[in-house]
Amino acid sequence: MINQSEADWIHFDVMDGVFVPNISFGLPVIQAVKKLAEKPLDVHLMIINPDPFIKPFGDSGADILTVHYEVCNHLHRTLGSIRNEGMMTGVALNPHTSVDVLESIINEVDVVLLMSVNPGFGGQKFIQNTYQKVIRLRRLIEEKEANTLIEIDGGVNLGTGKLLFEAGADVLVAGSFIFDAENPVRTIHQLRNV
Ligand code: ZN
Repeated sequence: MINQSEADWIHFDVMDGVFVPNISFGLPVIQAVKKLAEKPLDVHLMIINPDPFIKPFGDSGADILTVHYEVCNHLHRTLGSIRNEGMMTGVALNPHTSVDVLESIINEVDVVLLMSVNPGFGGQKFIQNTYQKVIRLRRLIEEKEANTLIEIDGGVNLGTGKLLFEAGADVLVAGSFIFDAENPVRTIHQLRNV
């Protein structure tokens, strides 16, 4: 269904039960999907210790690998490792983390993922100050002349999606909004054209 849809990427939330209060799946699922997927795999690591897993996720077929700012003591090195494995680099920020922390690293980041709910569970309500964070991040990207994409993850639907695009977001992640819909292909089409 996703292959036949207008979705640009396929997003995966990998959860370790430590960084977030839930466990999802890991490498075998990514490998299995990679065999069928005709779109880039966008892998979001919600785990406390991502460095040892960069190469395994690259080998498993991840095209974009996103780590959380909150767990990386040496973010510059971590992003270098992701790039060395041939993947696009992503940095995710929890709702409480300011976009200002990216000022010295933004030129190394292909995608900034703003969590617009607290990570761990699907179907949560969108946190409103995300719009302000998008506007502020867009300004930072322009100031630094970076080519970074702004991705929003959590509580995305047609209403929030339209406002997010207007605020300057590039990539919208939607889970339950699409997979709970009666016609997911049509819902993806609608989201793609908000
Ligand atoms: Zn995610």
